Amino acid sequence: MFSTQFIPAVAAARDTCLRFFEAVRPTVEGALGLLYPAWCQACDSRHALPSEGYLCSDCQRKVRFVAPPFCRRCGLPFPGAITDSFDCENCRDILLHFEFARAASVANPFLLDLIHRYKYRDAQWLEPYLAGVLIQRAAPVLLRTEWDLIVPVPLHPIRQRERGFNQAERLAEPLARFTGIPLNTGLLRRIRRTDTQTALSREGRAANVRNAFEPLSDRRLDGLACVVFDDVLTTGATTSAVAKVLKNSGAARVCVWSLARAAY
Ligand SMILES: [Zn+2]
Ligand SMILES: [Zn+2]
Repeated sequence: MFSTQFIPAVAAARDTCLRFFEAVRPTVEGALGLLYPAWCQACDSRHALPSEGYLCSDCQRKVRFVAPPFCRRCGLPFPGAITDSFDCENCRDILLHFEFARAASVANPFLLDLIHRYKYRDAQWLEPYLAGVLIQRAAPVLLRTEWDLIVPVPLHPIRQRERGFNQAERLAEPLARFTGIPLNTGLLRRIRRTDTQTALSREGRAANVRNAFEPLSDRRLDGLACVVFDDVLTTGATTSAVAKVLKNSGAARVCVWSLARAAY
């Protein structure tokens, strides 16, 4: 169980880690600099460090954090200056099994291209930057309330073998270390190799992931508060299907965090 009494200890451990990282950074970056050119990998015209994910400050500014107003349930950003609660079109006809979803940044074409390069074109050097964006936005919010577990959305074993890693798991690991909320990858598995969601309608996405996940054991999660993490969230159908499994295992509360929030 994660409780607020642990926060000072977690903060102290985190500060120690950060000091260590700061101390070894020149060595690490020097070593990496021999392997990779220290140029921004997005614009190819400015210097950028490994710890910045090889993205220069100008390119980093193209990544936009999610800012209000957004739907209080699914986190969908809404254009304009809305102060009243509004009826979100995404939430209107969809049964969501999580309490709320939030995202660090808007899935604009620039960020989606970075995520695509990271997932499909072996651009592992982007990982520190992408994980940093997530920590910057998610950690302060998660540390304000109590959460017991972070559960990355699992890939189907065949897809994971093809890709070599699960991006949700990799990006959630630094967030778990930073916040002290344990990462748990052993609760559920993906049993259906679902089609890619990109070309599907909202209804198609929900049907595509229905019954796609199942618990790995009879372990009960009674009373636990879980954070489901996925790299990109569109309608919330996938994370909702994961939340449903966790709730059926007894989870008291489930919220969702993602790195990027796309329009549907
Ligand atoms: Zn650049
Ligand atoms: Zn909504």
